[in-house]
Amino acid sequence: MKHYMDESNQYIMNTYGRFEIEIQKGEGCYLYDQNDKGYLDLCAGIAVNTLGYNHARLSQELKSQIEHIMHTSNYYYTRPQVEAAKLLVEHSPFDKVFFCNSGTEANEAAIKLARKHGKSIDQEKYQIISMHNSFHGRSYGSLSATGQEKYQSAFTPIVPGFDYAKFNDIESLKGVVSHKTCAVILEVIQGEGGVQVADYHYMKQVRKLCDEHQALLIIDEVQTGMGRCGSLFAFSQFSIVPDVVTLAKGLGGGLPIGAMLCKEEFAVLGRGDHGTTFGGNPLVTTAAKVVLEELIKKDLIAQVQLVGAYLENQLSMLEVECPMIKEVRGKGLMQGIELKCPAQPIIAKCLEEGMLVVGAGEYVIRLLPPLIITIPEIDKAIQILEKVMGEV
Ligand SMILES: *Cc1c(COP(=O)(O)O)cnc(C)c1O
Repeated sequence: MKHYMDESNQYIMNTYGRFEIEIQKGEGCYLYDQNDKGYLDLCAGIAVNTLGYNHARLSQELKSQIEHIMHTSNYYYTRPQVEAAKLLVEHSPFDKVFFCNSGTEANEAAIKLARKHGKSIDQEKYQIISMHNSFHGRSYGSLSATGQEKYQSAFTPIVPGFDYAKFNDIESLKGVVSHKTCAVILEVIQGEGGVQVADYHYMKQVRKLCDEHQALLIIDEVQTGMGRCGSLFAFSQFSIVPDVVTLAKGLGGGLPIGAMLCKEEFAVLGRGDHGTTFGGNPLVTTAAKVVLEELIKKDLIAQVQLVGAYLENQLSMLEVECPMIKEVRGKGLMQGIELKCPAQPIIAKCLEEGMLVVGAGEYVIRLLPPLIITIPEIDKAIQILEKVMGEV
């Protein structure tokens, strides 16, 4: 392992802090390292592996698609792209899909769409408002929308025309919004920002404010979407309909794909305005199609509601038991445990005990299991958390 890590450090740019294990394979909700040690995976590739690992149907359909065609280019029509887009449109309030390769790119597309739409009303209508503590990606547009100093400071100047408001504080947004605002972008549950859930009434007020200012409401569902919170899109639990939604992470069940969805009237990006070589290629859209069919037609979403409620319940019992826990919050299979002490030692201990979890900021442990997780697996996860928190 030492030699392998040295080689990794020699050849790969050091942009990630890594744990000292090499993942070699996965099955269901479990991952296995170089010594064949199993880990119950409550990270799921950071909310990516919706159907867990080695899912029979996903693997089979991908193998078959590889033998047909993996990539052509967006100069030609391909069936899986149409099928995936149709599923997204038929099961959402949106009419048009743009496919890309990541969450960052989905937000980048949304930002460009919002600016073009804004300019069609008034040349000065280009302001984009996002929230403090948000995360929307690391390219210049999406980084400019990411309201966190630590991600921006080394790379300034950022893109002009971005302003920030306090999350869950409508007065703060009212103070920033103007006739120049072309869009407000936010996550209904801030993921990287520590699993902070928007207030129901706040979201309604944000929607109203956007309408009053002819600003698009963009909801970044890169992490919360694809069934994770117990509905295909998390925004539907807030009784609002955004104008634009962005997806990625869980959409491809492990393959890199992002998507921006919008209503017909805002689908202003035309030929030559935007594009990407790989976006929505037949392989990744086959994955998205399978994931969507499992969620909708096989009703995996109903299963998420069931196990999600169970997880919430078990976590609230753990909260009562463990004085180290400050608060548990989230929806469905996106849960955050805020600790009174730094989360990193707990995360490392969980790994030793054969369980993977993710941090979000210094004090929060994030649970983002594959959506196929079962109740016995949740019981096991709670046992491990209980043990680790008792020891630290
Ligand atoms: C992860 C994430 C992104 C960025 O997605 P990438 O695929 O890493 O580019 C954007 N928004 C949210 C809410 C995310 O969680």
